[in-house]
Amino acid sequence: MAPSSTEQALREQICAVGQRLYQREMGAANDGNISVRLDDDRLLCSPTGVSKGFMTPDMICVIDNEGELVVDGGTRPSSEIRMHLHVYQHRPDINAVVHAHPLYATVHAICGKPLVQQVMPESTILLGEVPIAPYGTPSTMDLPNSTTEYLATHDALLLENHGALSYGADLNNAHFKMEALDYYAKVVYLASQYGGAQEFSQAEIDKLIELRKTRFKLPGRHPFVDGR
Ligand SMILES: [Zn+2]
Repeated sequence: MAPSSTEQALREQICAVGQRLYQREMGAANDGNISVRLDDDRLLCSPTGVSKGFMTPDMICVIDNEGELVVDGGTRPSSEIRMHLHVYQHRPDINAVVHAHPLYATVHAICGKPLVQQVMPESTILLGEVPIAPYGTPSTMDLPNSTTEYLATHDALLLENHGALSYGADLNNAHFKMEALDYYAKVVYLASQYGGAQEFSQAEIDKLIELRKTRFKLPGRHPFVDGR
């Protein structure tokens, strides 16, 4: 049976986001994975063993809420799909999950340096702090379980000695958080080589969080809004 127009559009969107992740050095070779909720019972997810830069819509897998294939399209779901399912289980407001290995974010994750400096309005408003979820062996439940304590308060995480995870109300939202996370990591890294960043005062941070709440009304969770 041919996919519905909605499903086909989501398949194409997954491929477009995959290309962008690959081109922006957020996943070498076959690294990274993307999923999107299709309806209450089904999800679309990127296939295992395929570069995210070279996916075609027919390669995208349809799975159920347990990660089992609903339709055998000739590809298998990502080995990290359990991490995605874990996010959906804990966050009913989430409809898309992106896992990637963005270069600067991953350097922070392997050096044990969470992103805590408040240095740019955009990253403070969108992300706040980005903690590091403790290391878990890929494709085991250790990795999803390591994220649990952060899921209620954060929409983007570093994964210790591994990479990063972001999620949102739709795929664009999840994807842009990944881009914003890596830009934030890059700025913090470069600033550290250049004498260190100037940080916002608490009063400035409070003003930015007020903007997030009242002006921008952003969906999702934020550590300075939901974590205190
Ligand atoms: Zn990974």
